[in-house]
Amino acid sequence: MAATMSRQKLVSQVVEQAPQEDSAPKDLPLFEQLVYSLCREDAEAAAANIAFEQLKERFFDFNEIRVSTAREVSLCFEGLSDPRARALRLISLLQDIFEATYGFDFEALAKKGAKTAQKQLARYKSVNDFSLAWIGLRGFAEHTIPVDSAMRRCAGRIGLVEPECAKDTEETRVALETLIPQAKAVAFVEGLQLIGVRFCHEQNSDCTNCPLKKTCPESGKTPTAPVKAAKPKAPKKPR
Ligand code: SF4
Repeated sequence: MAATMSRQKLVSQVVEQAPQEDSAPKDLPLFEQLVYSLCREDAEAAAANIAFEQLKERFFDFNEIRVSTAREVSLCFEGLSDPRARALRLISLLQDIFEATYGFDFEALAKKGAKTAQKQLARYKSVNDFSLAWIGLRGFAEHTIPVDSAMRRCAGRIGLVEPECAKDTEETRVALETLIPQAKAVAFVEGLQLIGVRFCHEQNSDCTNCPLKKTCPESGKTPTAPVKAAKPKAPKKPR
């Protein structure tokens, strides 16, 4: 019971970190919500929103993105982690969808409800647990918690889930779903993702500035990356 109480307090602390205004795009069609989920994974809302807008502004449509190079698409993801990997994943997703449906219209699928849509979208190899849960929460207002790697790591470190559980995205999502009431799900996701991406890095976490530093048992104990030794300067040639 004590652990449950402290976890509920932690949940409240995380929810408090959510930005006052929810800046995720509203009322996106299901297909665009899926594309947006690729932008939001391991990214703060503001940076993801810029990437998503650039995808829509720089290309005529999603089919043009499908036939573009990873380098061209990755320019939209500058400012997010691993722009090239994101571009390759998006192009692969668009290609798979195009081959399966000859277009990018999921409105008929959206009308079938969350479970059917998630089951069908899970067949695409670029659609992961985060994207499916993101669609569930944001597209269908389902009670679910999308978990990316930054959120998973942070949830384990602050003690919201057990360390073993935090090694697996799906297990972390299920554990958090039982802990977070539906009414707080959006704010919780926004808060935990912000802390995870901005402060709680794999290495060299910014615990000093983290808003959870006073309650986090791992504060100041996270791995540090070895400092790269400076290349020795070539000796000057004698004149
Ligand atoms: S105090 Fe450090 S380890 Fe704990 S959540 Fe914040 S950044 Fe992560």
